[in-house]
Amino acid sequence: MKRPFLFILLMVLVSCSNDSPKEPKKIAGVKLAPLQLTSEQNFKIGVIGSGIGGASYVHFLNQAAAANCQITVYEKENRVGGRVKKDRLGGGLIEQGATLIHSSNYYLRDIIATHQLEKTKPHGGEGEAETLAIWDGTDFRLNTSSNSFTSTMQMLWAYGMSLSDLSDLVKSMIPKWESVYANLGEGKTYDSPESLFKAIDLYDLTQQTSYDYFKKEGIKDDLVYEFVDCISRVNYHQDGNINAFTDLVSLAGAGLDGGELYSVKGGNDQMIEAVLSNKSNVNLRLNQTVTTLNNLSIDGQAKYEVLTANGQRDTFDIVVVACPLDLANISLPNYELKMDREYQTVHANFIAGAIDYSYFNKVDNNPQTIFTVENEAIPFVSIAKTAYATEWDLPIYKVFSRQPLDDTFFNQAFKNRKGRIHQEWKAYTVLSPMKEWPPFKIDEGLFYINAMESAVSTMETEAIAARNIANLTLNFMKGKALKD
Ligand SMILES: Cc1cc2nc3c(=O)[nH]c(=O)nc-3n(C[C@H](O)[C@H](O)[C@H](O)COP(=O)(O)OP(=O)(O)OC[C@H]3O[C@@H](n4cnc5c(N)ncnc54)[C@H](O)[C@@H]3O)c2cc1C
Repeated sequence: MKRPFLFILLMVLVSCSNDSPKEPKKIAGVKLAPLQLTSEQNFKIGVIGSGIGGASYVHFLNQAAAANCQITVYEKENRVGGRVKKDRLGGGLIEQGATLIHSSNYYLRDIIATHQLEKTKPHGGEGEAETLAIWDGTDFRLNTSSNSFTSTMQMLWAYGMSLSDLSDLVKSMIPKWESVYANLGEGKTYDSPESLFKAIDLYDLTQQTSYDYFKKEGIKDDLVYEFVDCISRVNYHQDGNINAFTDLVSLAGAGLDGGELYSVKGGNDQMIEAVLSNKSNVNLRLNQTVTTLNNLSIDGQAKYEVLTANGQRDTFDIVVVACPLDLANISLPNYELKMDREYQTVHANFIAGAIDYSYFNKVDNNPQTIFTVENEAIPFVSIAKTAYATEWDLPIYKVFSRQPLDDTFFNQAFKNRKGRIHQEWKAYTVLSPMKEWPPFKIDEGLFYINAMESAVSTMETEAIAARNIANLTLNFMKGKALKD
């Protein structure tokens, strides 16, 4: 039987560390307790952006205070989801953006359970690569066998016990990271991502590159520059110059903490659809681009005015910005905020067909997943089987690159090729250590979820930022209710 690569990797790590793959823990306080307000105490809340950040915020707020808030969600596109987006190619479902959910993503798990969504293996099971190779432009540096024992030996031969040390570093970060759930569950709040990371003793990791961190921790260069880099390049299209916290998260996401990876059956966007659709207190406004956010004082009360490109003007008690201000082109005349973070361009291409191994000078065991090392001469970042085109009876491959790829490349690297879907993303911030971060709390009643992306960018970390802002919102509502 062919074994998926992550399974092989897990086996290597488990045999090194004697730990068994982890069951997700039970975490207290994932759900918010109802806020005790009278039915007259009502708040108008505006949310700008319908990605997982905006949707998680609505999810939490409705858990605690659905009866006390009217929520308007503005979305500039004609669909919800933002960087969570699906499509179909030859009948196969593809995730064009965020794909993988980790078993320790407790807030996403809560959304999935609340709305009775089903889980599926990542890429519907199609993407569990039986064999993996790392391409350096001339040769394959690591080319795992479809036999799990041989692969285990190959990994150990290539990287030795440094693999176990690396796994220990990932595992030592996890309990600190998970303490964020306990803190938020107790109702704690953070005005900035900086204060959140300091409270869980992980700020230092965000302020150093992973190259520096792994060197200090004695991890072998071969392992860092080949294996760790190829994981961070697939997850973030960036090498070990990203901050060490993000790299550890990326390695945990690759299974180094012994967890499980999955997606939502029928598409990850269903989490967002389920939260935002058919709720009597949620008014979803698609095709509405927010252009300006003003703060006003009405009868001595701070209010926020939202203006849209098609001339809508609304006033709110609370506004939550749930999109990157660096890209959103929203004018905030009263505030000076860091809004110039650079975003990494990612091209996601989906091709039905078969890899043409002559492009790689032929190899024996035809790897189904091909990662790369940092080398400008290699036009792509990764190739991985991701779904199956049932109408054409062909596998679908996801090809990531930083630059656009043309037909010449696809004609050389694939045969029996059918169809192609291309999506360009401003995917995530350039995640190298960043000194200056924007805050979660811009002003009383004005919050910013995507401040989180200065440190890390995943669906769950956006949900964590959203939960913090839901806690801040509930405190704001309680404070107002007491005054009135
Ligand atoms: C290719 C790719 C792969 C990824 N893989 C994973 C993965 O496997 N697992 C994982 O956890 N994460 C992954 N991520 C990261 C993840 O997608 C993001 O961290 C997350 O989806 C960000 O969510 P968000 O809601 O904060 O922002 P967004 O999803 O960007 O949502 C913001 C929304 O705001 C809207 N908007 C913007 N400006 C305005 C405006 N002026 N007015 C109104 N609306 C506006 C946008 O249209 C958008 O819908 C991946 C990302 C990419 C691009």
